Amino acid sequence: MMIRPPTILLAILLFLTVSSCFQTNAAERRIHFSNFGKTTTGETVYRYVLRNNKGIEAVVISYGATLVSIQAPDRNGKMGDLVLGYDTLDGYEKDKSYFGATIGRYGNRIAGGQFALDGVVFHLPTNDGPNCLHGGTRGFNKRVWTGVDHSRDDAYVLELNYTSQDGEEGFPGTLQVKVTYTLPLDRSELQIDYSATTDKDTVVNLTNHSYFNLSGVANSEILSHQLLLHASKFTPVDARLIPTGALQTVEDSPFDFSKPTAIGAHINQDNEQLKFGRGYDHNWVLEKTPNSNVQLAATVFEPSSGRVLEVLTTEPGIQFYSGNFLDGTVRGKDGQLYAHRTGFCLETQHFPDSPNHPNFPSTTLKAGQTYRSTTVFRFSARK
Ligand code: BGC
Repeated sequence: MMIRPPTILLAILLFLTVSSCFQTNAAERRIHFSNFGKTTTGETVYRYVLRNNKGIEAVVISYGATLVSIQAPDRNGKMGDLVLGYDTLDGYEKDKSYFGATIGRYGNRIAGGQFALDGVVFHLPTNDGPNCLHGGTRGFNKRVWTGVDHSRDDAYVLELNYTSQDGEEGFPGTLQVKVTYTLPLDRSELQIDYSATTDKDTVVNLTNHSYFNLSGVANSEILSHQLLLHASKFTPVDARLIPTGALQTVEDSPFDFSKPTAIGAHINQDNEQLKFGRGYDHNWVLEKTPNSNVQLAATVFEPSSGRVLEVLTTEPGIQFYSGNFLDGTVRGKDGQLYAHRTGFCLETQHFPDSPNHPNFPSTTLKAGQTYRSTTVFRFSARK
């Protein structure tokens, strides 16, 4: 049947009324999402786009609750994608670098893949030499999460849920995990809130593993980025990157980022700790003000674009990893081969291997208690 012109006009009028309501009515604010494909085991993965009035755009997928891109302007207003990643789900399924992923149940290493809790020894998969790294062979980064849109009038809010079964990757207790990405409409920052509850005592250490390159040119070295870390100590490691248990001053060492310092300034210095990490791959002990909520942990400035990233967190530590294991064999976005040190991670966290170090802040989550952690990535640009 032919649609007569007056009907078309009416339809256009109706569409315009509805779409203008959609933009102005806060209750109708919705995250744009689409199908990102199916995993090899047939699970559907969604791609969510959060875009605010400042031009910040964050894209997250339900596979690994992964941040796949974040766009922010440089000093001339030119947008750039500031994180490494892949174009396809297949890339994320095969990934071994943890690009943009949510890491859990335990971020970083647990020595010997074991720890004792309440007098019982738990054994985890060893996927990094003799140690367990980033939650085991199939951590939270390799799971499909369920997205719920909780957007409100002043922000896009994407909640991702995952239930980690009792005994999954060797960890005790069924863990209900929530990761919430919040993009305020009028602020250039992405907030990530984590929460978790368990039905048996367990250990939890969640983080995000984004590799940043603030130049917006993904395949360029990050060595000229200037880094400031609000920390006067770090946790030195052994040759397999397990903390010795000491808290060591950064003073007079290549680990001193208490003033803005180019990442590349001392990275190749003859230093045992740098040799162990093949560069920076260490946890800094953040200075904490009592009773504060999120605190500034790191500031990074990239001179050619003027972009600045500030990292704020409630966590006691931050893993600064200078992308030392990138070696030009990983094919990422736009088919680029990501070369050595073309991205850096600032992983807010409790200290590595805490379950085996009673002197470190505890990562034990008791049955009935709630784990909470918040990190903010704040973007700006300057001359
Ligand atoms: C670790 C590195 C590891 C990397 C994996 C970082 O958090 O500290 O040692 O190679 O994750 O991409």
